[in-house]
Amino acid sequence: MNKGLLIVFSGPSGCGKGTILKQFLARNEDVRVSVSATTRAPREGEQEGVSYFFKTKEEFEELVRSGGMLEHATYVGNSYGTPRASVEAWREEGYHVVLEIEVQGALQVKRNCPDALLVFVLPPSFEELERRLTGRGTEEPQVVARRLAMAKEELESAGQYDYILVNDVVEEAVADLETIVNAEQMKTPHMQDFLKGLCEV
Ligand code: 5GP
Repeated sequence: MNKGLLIVFSGPSGCGKGTILKQFLARNEDVRVSVSATTRAPREGEQEGVSYFFKTKEEFEELVRSGGMLEHATYVGNSYGTPRASVEAWREEGYHVVLEIEVQGALQVKRNCPDALLVFVLPPSFEELERRLTGRGTEEPQVVARRLAMAKEELESAGQYDYILVNDVVEEAVADLETIVNAEQMKTPHMQDFLKGLCEV
């Protein structure tokens, strides 16, 4: 069996990454989403170990120091990071693992794991992004403003990703993501174990 893909999924807050991923997961049993660690306070409805592993600053720093993070970054004043162990274990079991992370972390992954597949999600327009962020109603207006400013900065990094998905109609974006993942897993470097198995017969 081939090792699973490492899929890095980024895009500005409010671009609909979460919705796309939820549908992608529902339709594809061979995919796992990594649960990140963060120092951010839980939002209403967020569950420990499901949405995030919520950590104190000290706990987070210790995880980084001990080499337990595949990547980590600071975003709007809080730390976020991907625990390494579960990602490696799932990939070895053949699952594709999705990291829903911001751009600094994504570029660290690209440097450390050159076989990672980087996908950037764009809103159809900046006005639509603003409308989605304001309409969500879960954040203070200042936080929305900071997230919008951050989004503008993040868009500049989209060019360093392998693929860009425009999320206008969610179902179409999910289908496009499936096309990308299907093609990626047939690339020669990802078919090595299968190829070896055939040659050994
Ligand atoms: P939020 O606070 O809205 O849940 O997440 C803020 C940003 O942090 C989002 O862009 C999200 O994708 C990113 N993020 C979540 N987990 C991680 C992680 O483990 N590493 C990095 N680098 N970014 C993350």
